[in-house]
Amino acid sequence: MRASKITSSPAPPPMDWSMLLIDAVSKPGAISEAYRRFWNYSTGNQLLAMFECMRRKITPGPIHTFQGWKKLGRHVKKGEKAMTLCMPVTVKRKANAKSSDVDDRIDAPAASYTRFLYKAHWFVLAQTEGEEYQPADLPEWQEERALSSLDIERIGFEHPNGNCQGFALRRQVAVSPIAFAPHRTLFHELAHVVLGHTDELERMDDDDVTPTNLREVEAECVALICCASLNLGGHEFSRGYIQHWLIGATIPEKSAHRIFRAADQILKAGHPAQGSLDQA
Ligand SMILES: [Zn+2]
Repeated sequence: MRASKITSSPAPPPMDWSMLLIDAVSKPGAISEAYRRFWNYSTGNQLLAMFECMRRKITPGPIHTFQGWKKLGRHVKKGEKAMTLCMPVTVKRKANAKSSDVDDRIDAPAASYTRFLYKAHWFVLAQTEGEEYQPADLPEWQEERALSSLDIERIGFEHPNGNCQGFALRRQVAVSPIAFAPHRTLFHELAHVVLGHTDELERMDDDDVTPTNLREVEAECVALICCASLNLGGHEFSRGYIQHWLIGATIPEKSAHRIFRAADQILKAGHPAQGSLDQA
């Protein structure tokens, strides 16, 4: 898709990412179900698709575009309504761009930013008919593969504080050998790195630093999504931790975006190489 075309259609997002996150956090069963069904889509879209199927009482299943189903020898049944998913599109910023051109950028590198386009383009298996569908296997998530593709090193744990479950420093993470839920801690620490928190602390530039409570909420939401997706358990403790740090506040929209993106990066990094079906 060309940048010029994208810039000319600034449709307002029809949905609220922080509400989607709150829904997901309160229903971890939906997260694992969404991941199992829609793993080859981004995390946000997995949940969008899952909740949309629930709302419209459609059996959740693989998703493709109209053309995608055609290529698989199936066609969309008459009268079926398409589902709306979000397509992240990376747009190169022009050197002379005005600030109003980059309002919707989400902490992307200076030379590019991400725009989110909502398109009603997708249909679930149950909305189609034709040749028998051959499901693809759920890819295995491997820690070693994730660490190497994220360029993060797991180091030994040395910490005098017995209550500390793990830590992240620059691009290194460590998990206590006596961590209460080691997977959850690993994902929490990976999230701190992927979310850029360790970089922020390194720079010691107060203006740019995410407040501690928000850092913890963001990292733990990522841990919850990853653990629930991979069925590793522990999300009931994540919920308590998130509530403790939120102190009655809600998750800002920008944080919700960052959370979905980081969870997605960590989950995809552990899969054998392949792209998301919804990436433009
Ligand atoms: Zn933390």
